[in-house]
Order: sequence, then structure tokens, then C-alpha cells
Amino acid sequence: MSTANKKVGFVSLGCPKALVDSERILTQLRTDGYDIVPSYDDADIVVVNTCGFIDSAKQESLDAIGEALAENGRVIVTGCLGAMADTITEAHPKVLAVTGPHAYEEVVSKVHHFLPQEKTHNPFTDLVPPQGIKLTPRHYAYLKISEGCNHRCSFCIIPSLRGDLVSRPVGDVLDEAERLANAGVKELLVISQDTSAYGVDIKYQTGFWQGRPIKANMQGLCEALAELGIWVRLHYVYPYPHVDKIIPLMADGKILPYLDIPFQHASLSILKAMKRPAATENTLKRIEKWRQICPELTIRSTFIVGFPGETDADFEELLSFLQIAQLDRVGCFQYSPVAGAKANELPGAVAEELKQERWERFMATQQEISSNRLRRKIGSEMDVLIDSVGGEADEEGDSDDLNGLVELNKIVGRSFADAPEIDGSVFVEANSHVSAGDIVRVKITQADEYDLYGVLVD
Ligand code: SF4
Repeated sequence: MSTANKKVGFVSLGCPKALVDSERILTQLRTDGYDIVPSYDDADIVVVNTCGFIDSAKQESLDAIGEALAENGRVIVTGCLGAMADTITEAHPKVLAVTGPHAYEEVVSKVHHFLPQEKTHNPFTDLVPPQGIKLTPRHYAYLKISEGCNHRCSFCIIPSLRGDLVSRPVGDVLDEAERLANAGVKELLVISQDTSAYGVDIKYQTGFWQGRPIKANMQGLCEALAELGIWVRLHYVYPYPHVDKIIPLMADGKILPYLDIPFQHASLSILKAMKRPAATENTLKRIEKWRQICPELTIRSTFIVGFPGETDADFEELLSFLQIAQLDRVGCFQYSPVAGAKANELPGAVAEELKQERWERFMATQQEISSNRLRRKIGSEMDVLIDSVGGEADEEGDSDDLNGLVELNKIVGRSFADAPEIDGSVFVEANSHVSAGDIVRVKITQADEYDLYGVLVD
């Protein structure tokens, strides 16, 4: 690579979907011959990929832009907050350009405009790994299957930022998944705003992969992904009837028996006020049926307490849903208004102290459920994908620098039941060499509220 390459600094904020956008932009910039550098000082220009979902994320994005301007001075902004260009330019009039979410080409062309290359770059001779640039450790990767969302949940501004659902062609998604698997990725995390809606916008149009037809729906996609022989984990799934067809694939060990379903609430009146998809489905019956088919199924979810209009009775209904549903992993947020969201117009704001009280009761209830469910795993054996070895998170997924035998109690991994970043871990004792990215067999010996502990099985 010539030393004449221009250098781009990159700041990536926000959710896994934004991370995938960052990876795409970086891959394109690298393909176009730019070097990506890790410090403001070395960079000729800085791109900030922002998040604008909630007010605190907005502020974090504005702060990051301010920092990049102060440290480097030449800044291009992209991502969700880019949809509110005025907010950015009012706070930071010196930014060079603002592009919106999902505008890969536009942001790349802005980089070309403000930082033209001096030499002709040849993408065929200059090296970009075929799987593109990844910001996650090497052994797992996010696979984004669609952009945007057809729903209009009243607390959410994603559709106004990212538009309606646009599914990627199934052949493209599978090609990307195959490239990642060939590059050594052991776990694919399928993400979108609504994974169960995949293909709706393209009328489930059949695509081609490896020379054969594949239907662009959730089932077709999951069956094909299962052929790659690596872990496939589904996020952001709604409990629609057609999700029933995916459960046998989990029972047969083809994809991980794990579903991330953001239920958000259990009271029908609150779900209606939230305008949640699948709010009228009989969720508890559906969960029961799924568990009959696949007893190992792990369900993760998120909930909001203190939504406008939430009464004591609504909240009690939520607690009793938790008791019956016995979900494995649960996150809970206190409702906070998002600028531009319809929910802000709803009557019946819940007082802050009451939100806090409900949140504490919710967390205590769920913590007991989670610990009981984790305790049941003591004595069992499970496959664990190693994330880090030697006590420190191995951001590059690279354990080559860890020589010899690993120290006891410092091997951290995840089972099928744990997604990276959001779920628990499995702490493994081993006295043989283990590297990040290995899948090892572990006997579980202990459990607490969130994590498991075990020993390596020979
Ligand atoms: S399903 Fe609802 S919460 Fe999720 S992105 Fe769509 S509108 Fe937002």
C-alpha cells in the first residue's frame, strides 16, 4: 500500500445495526484506498457515525462530534442523528458535511470530496479482506438482513429516521454470511429492526445462492444459514405465527435455540398504546408451544416500565406475565420520552419515583427467575464459544500473544444461551490451551444471577 494513502479516523456509536453500517462504510473506504487510523492526530479527516435514538444517545453523539472537531477539526457526520442535520449544524457549525442513516455511498462520496486521493487506487491489488472490515472480534459477526421498519411503535422514531422495511436480497445476505464463515467467524448474529418481517417488502421473492433457489423469508433464510455449520443467533424477532416454523430448526440443532423478542409489556392496553406488533397474539400460549418443541429454547426480552397510562393493574399484569413466561434473560428500561415520538402526546405520565419503584420490583422478580433458570444448568455439559482468555477482553479476537497454558478462572465464553454484550458469560476453568474463538465442552459447576461457571471437559 502506498504511503500516499489518505487517512480516515472513524468513531462508531450506537446499536449493533449502526455498527454494521460502520463496517460497510469502513470496508468501502478501505476498498477505495483510504487507510483507517485509530487516532485523531494521525487522521486527515474523521467520520462520526452517530446514534439519535434517545436523548442521552443524541447528546453522546453531539459530544463525540465536538471532541472530533476539537482534536482533528475536519469532521463528516453520518448515521441516525444525521437525519436531524439542523441539530448537528446548530451545535457544530464547522462540520464539513452531514449525511443520514443508511447513506453509505453518500458518506463515502463526501470523504472522496473533502479528502481526494492523490494516486489511483487499485482495489484488485490493494488488500481488503473478502469479508470486509469487521469491528467485532473475529469469531462473531453481525449479519444485517434488512433496513428500516414497517411498524410505528409510539415510543420509537426509528421508522422516521430509517424509513420503511427494505429487505436485502436473500442471495446477498447468504453470500455475506458464507464469506464470514469462510473467514473464520463462528457465530452470526442476525439483526434488523424486525427479523420476523424479513422479505415482506419484496414479497418473499425467491433469490439464488450457490446456484439454487432460496425463498426470501425467515424460514428460507434460517434453513440456508444453518448449512454453514456455525452458530446462528436470531435477534429482534416478534412472536408471529410463522416464527413457529423456525423452532424445529432450533430443536434439531441447526440454529441456536435462542430468540431475542422485545415484548416491551404484557398488558394489552399498554401494548396497544405502544402500537406494538403482534400485540394481540397469545404470547404465553405460543411460548409454551415453542418450549414443548424445543425445551432448551432460551428467550431474551426487553421491557419498558412507566409507559404513559401504565396503571398499577397494568404493572401487576406485567409481573404476573414474567412469573408465567419464565423468560431467561430480560432487560428493563424506565420509559423516557424521545423527541419526535408519538408517545409523548399520550396522557397519564407516570411519576419518576413510581417508575423507579416499578423498575426495582420488576428487576427483583426477574432476577429470581433468571437465577433459578441458570441454577438448573448446574451439572449439565454445554458447548461454550470462548470470547477471551487471560483475563482481558480480546477485542481483536486474537489470542496469539497469550503464550503457554492459560491461567485458571480467566477464560470467558458464552453458551448458546448468551448473546455477546447483552447476556451473561460462562467462566471456564481449564489447564490446557484454549484460544478466543474455540468452541469447547464445559461442565457447569456453579451459577449466579447472570453467569455460569464450569470446567473444561476433555
Ligand atoms: S418494531 Fe417498533 S420499536 Fe422496533 S424499530 Fe419498528 S417501530 Fe421501532
